[in-house]
Amino acid sequence: MKKFLKSPWTISIGSTLLGFLLTVLYDFAKGKHVFSTIKAVFTTLYDWIVLSLNFQIRVWWILLALAVLVVIRCIILHNKQEQSDERPAFLDYTSDRFSKWKWSWEWNFSSLEQKWQVSNLHPHCPKCDTPMLSDKYESYFKCPRCKYDSGYENIEKSYEVEAVIIDNLDRRFRSGKSL
Ligand SMILES: [Zn+2]
Repeated sequence: MKKFLKSPWTISIGSTLLGFLLTVLYDFAKGKHVFSTIKAVFTTLYDWIVLSLNFQIRVWWILLALAVLVVIRCIILHNKQEQSDERPAFLDYTSDRFSKWKWSWEWNFSSLEQKWQVSNLHPHCPKCDTPMLSDKYESYFKCPRCKYDSGYENIEKSYEVEAVIIDNLDRRFRSGKSL
């Protein structure tokens, strides 16, 4: 028997078997640990859900929450109202006489560029004040009412007039004058 135990073959097989058994035991213990953690997590989650659903809410809590929501809503609406009341003064500047004719326009706020822009800019007939029509190149203008014809010489272009409008505002802003 002693001879058998001392045999190199027996020692080799024995240590391999022991190593295998230890690995199986370790894995089993590890697996058990992982499963117990998962189980603990689910149990806690379940307990929490049951506790939340059974939680007793007092009526005054709901009333307080509603009151807070109403106050927040009032503050937001008040701020919006104040913002809409802050209308820039230059929005009243919608017509002027330039080198040749009177021009009128509107202001549109571009949400894309986050700035006010001149729009619907057109010259008025020097004889009857009617907005004049032009070709798409603005090479001439004509009055649809009295048939005034600008001809092709000394034409004011809308992009030039727009630049002067912006410059007028810049100059007034720099000099501190209100419109
Ligand atoms: Zn006219």
